[in-house]
Amino acid sequence: MAEGIEEELAQLADLTHIEIGRREKRPLCNICSRPVGVCWCWSLGRQRVETSCRVVILQHPHEEKRCLRTAPILQAALPKGAYVEVKGKRFPFSRLVYLENT
Ligand SMILES: [Zn+2]
Repeated sequence: MAEGIEEELAQLADLTHIEIGRREKRPLCNICSRPVGVCWCWSLGRQRVETSCRVVILQHPHEEKRCLRTAPILQAALPKGAYVEVKGKRFPFSRLVYLENT
């Protein structure tokens, strides 16, 4: 019985040499910060999407932690000044009214 346990422990000790997970980080896109393999910034083209209005993104801090990275892609697709990102948990009118004049 003791031999069985020792043999089992020796087998388990061999498992400590197994590499778990990825050691190197995947290369990231310099526009959206997504891994290059799943980035679709290339599909945006060179010309930005013209808008007649400004796009305002209201982003909760928990959304920022998610790795969807859609906000940077939207920002890359729109002309400068057509995109505003406001981060927070609540967005009362008093906080957003300044956007009207900026
Ligand atoms: Zn990208």
